[in-house]
Amino acid sequence: MKKVTDKLLQKYAGLIVRTGANVQKGQVVQLSVSVEQHHFAAMIIEECYKAGAKKVNVEWYYDLHSRMNYLYADQETLSCVLPWEEAKMKQVVKDLPVRIFIASDDPDAMRGVDPRKLSEVSRARSMILKPYRNAVEGKHQWVIAAYPSLKWAKKCFPEAEDEEAMALLWDAILRTVRVEEENDPVEEWKKHTDFIEKKAAWLNAQGFASLQYRSANGTNFSVELIPGARWEGAGAVNTMNGAFYIPNMPTEEIFTSPIAGKCEGTLVAVKPLSWQSQLIEDFSITFENGKAVSCSAKKGQELLEQMIHMDEGACMLGEVALVPKESPVNQCGFLFYETLFDENACCHCALGMGFKEVLPGGDDLTMEAAQKQGINDSIIHVDFMVGADDLSIDGIRPDGTSVPVFRNGTWA
Ligand code: ZN
Repeated sequence: MKKVTDKLLQKYAGLIVRTGANVQKGQVVQLSVSVEQHHFAAMIIEECYKAGAKKVNVEWYYDLHSRMNYLYADQETLSCVLPWEEAKMKQVVKDLPVRIFIASDDPDAMRGVDPRKLSEVSRARSMILKPYRNAVEGKHQWVIAAYPSLKWAKKCFPEAEDEEAMALLWDAILRTVRVEEENDPVEEWKKHTDFIEKKAAWLNAQGFASLQYRSANGTNFSVELIPGARWEGAGAVNTMNGAFYIPNMPTEEIFTSPIAGKCEGTLVAVKPLSWQSQLIEDFSITFENGKAVSCSAKKGQELLEQMIHMDEGACMLGEVALVPKESPVNQCGFLFYETLFDENACCHCALGMGFKEVLPGGDDLTMEAAQKQGINDSIIHVDFMVGADDLSIDGIRPDGTSVPVFRNGTWA
C-alpha cells in the first residue's frame, strides 16, 4: 500500500485554495479543520497566503469534544448562542471571509446521541444565527473538502489494517477530486465544471414541468418541478467580486428543488443510507400527493419511519439531483458514510429542506416566501440514492412532450 505523499497533499491543498475557494488577493480566510489535521491545515494556510490572503483565521474542531457536549451538556445550554459568538458573526458579516471547511469526521461520532437533541440544538442556533447567515449569503466564497481520519477510514474498510485503510480512503478521495501524481488537477476541474455547467444550461433551457423515473427495481415515480426554478451544479459566483468557486469537492451533481407536495409513486434506493450513525438498507419510499405515505426497509425500518416523521416537511422532497453512474465516487464502489461523497455517486432525491437559492432572486427571499413558491422546509435534509444502472428519466415539457434525460443510469 502506498502512503499519500506530501507532494500529493500539496497539490490537493493548492486545488482546494485556488480552484475550490478561489481565494483572491486581500481576502480574509476562515478555515475550519480538525485538530488532528494540523499538518494539512498548515499547507492550506500557506496556500491561502501565497494566493494573496490578507489574514487566515482557523477554527479548530474536535469530534470527541462535540460528542461529549451532546452527551453531557443539556439542550438549553447547547442551544444558547453566547454574546461573543454573535460578535464573531458580526465580524464575519463585515469581513465576508472566504470559508474553507475540511471534513474528516468520524461517521460514528454522534452514535447514541438523541437525534432530536441534535436537530433541536441546530434549529435553535440557526434561528439566532440566520440573520447573519442571510447577510453573507452569495457574498463570499466557500468550499468543503475532505481529509481522512483513521476512524473514518476504518468505518469504510473495517477489514483492513489501520495503515491500509487510510491508504485506501486516501486513494479514493484523491481519485474523486481528480488529483494524481502526474496531472494538472486545476485543468481537470476546468473541464469537469464546464461539462456540468453545459448540462445544467441544457436542463434550464428545456424548462421541464416534471420528471418521470423508471427502473426494473420497482422505481416508478414522477415529480413536478417549480416553473422558473434553476438547475444548478458545480460552481457558484460570489456576487461581491465575481469570483467563481466550487462549494463541494468532489461534486458531480446537478440539482434543483421540486414542488413540495407534488410527486407520486415509488422510489427504490440503490445504496444503503447512513442516518444518525445508523444504516438503513434495501429500502423504498412510496409517495402520494407529494408525501411519503409508506416505506419499507430490510434493515432500519424504524429509523426510516422516524426520519420521515421528524417534522411536517420531513415526508416531502427538497431536492432532486442528476448524477451519471460513471461518477468516480460510484466507481469507488463503497459507501463513504459522508454525504459530501455519497450524494455524488448517482441520481438521488432528498427528503426535507429544499434550496430557496434555485428560485429567481431566491437568495433574498425569506423561507416563508420561498415555501409559497413550492420550496420545502424541514429540519432534515437527507439524500438517498435512486440511480440504478438501468434508471431512465424523462423530462416532460409544459406542453406534454417528453424528452429523454437519462437512459441506463447516465445522460441520454
Ligand atoms: Zn444533492
